[in-house]
Amino acid sequence: KTQLVIDLRIAPVGDEYILVLADDRTEIARVQEVRNDFVANVSHELKTPVGAIGLMAEAIESSADDEESVKYFSTRLQKESKRLAALVQDVIELSRLQSTDVVRQSKLVDVNNLVASAVDYNRIMAEGKDIQLLVGGRARRPIHGDPELLGTALRNLVENAIRYSPEKTKVGIGITEKNGQIKISVKDQGPGIPEDEQDRIFERFYRVDPARSRQTGGTGLGLSIVKHVMGQHGGEITLWSIPGEGSTFTMTLPAVDEQSEQDLLGPDIEG
Ligand code: ADP
Repeated sequence: KTQLVIDLRIAPVGDEYILVLADDRTEIARVQEVRNDFVANVSHELKTPVGAIGLMAEAIESSADDEESVKYFSTRLQKESKRLAALVQDVIELSRLQSTDVVRQSKLVDVNNLVASAVDYNRIMAEGKDIQLLVGGRARRPIHGDPELLGTALRNLVENAIRYSPEKTKVGIGITEKNGQIKISVKDQGPGIPEDEQDRIFERFYRVDPARSRQTGGTGLGLSIVKHVMGQHGGEITLWSIPGEGSTFTMTLPAVDEQSEQDLLGPDIEG
């Protein structure tokens, strides 16, 4: 499929008006280029785990008599296949997000519940590194949006905070509500992100430390997904980080105002 961007304009010429129809080839070329880059990157990213899985399987076959080796290669095989599954899932999620600007379902979402389930989801990973997850603050008003997408975005932030932090540190998730805006921030005591890379980490497959990201199961797509989800909800994602001290990622979303909440919860008025 190619995307055709057509621009229709009515232009005055003397006393008359003419209809101008223009197709924006530059835009089409740009969209196509972004798409081609993505396909190239995905193919490249898929090659690593797929290749590794093949090698592990061969290694298991050739060391069938050696129980230790079989165990070692099986564990690595499982790790690679998990990574492959996560990558495929993220690619599908991101392609879906990129193919439309409209949120799939619009519901009233309780931010407090969203935070609680993101914490639950990441609890085992945190325990594995002896990282304490702390939650503070509450939102009074809900937000409007797709609970699944918002959940995915928040889970990604909490997962990153744990993934990149050293053992025995703390990750804080704070909720604040002010002037009709709800902020959810995820703060860690990890390595932080160098200033010149702070914008770039939201790009697809950009990693500050590629080896570390891959080794810990990262797909390189988490933050792009977060950014798209925020864009679709009229929100934004910001980052505050001092290298060596930690990072704070903040999602800002508009709270539902009281009147529209009433309208949504009340009976439908017809006619
Ligand atoms: P990945 O799957 O590699 O984590 P993301 O898109 O989620 O992909 O993140 C992109 C990169 O940003 C990561 O590879 C990592 O280098 C950096 N990053 C993300 N979150 C953090 C964090 N909390 N602390 C330090 N670095 C981070």
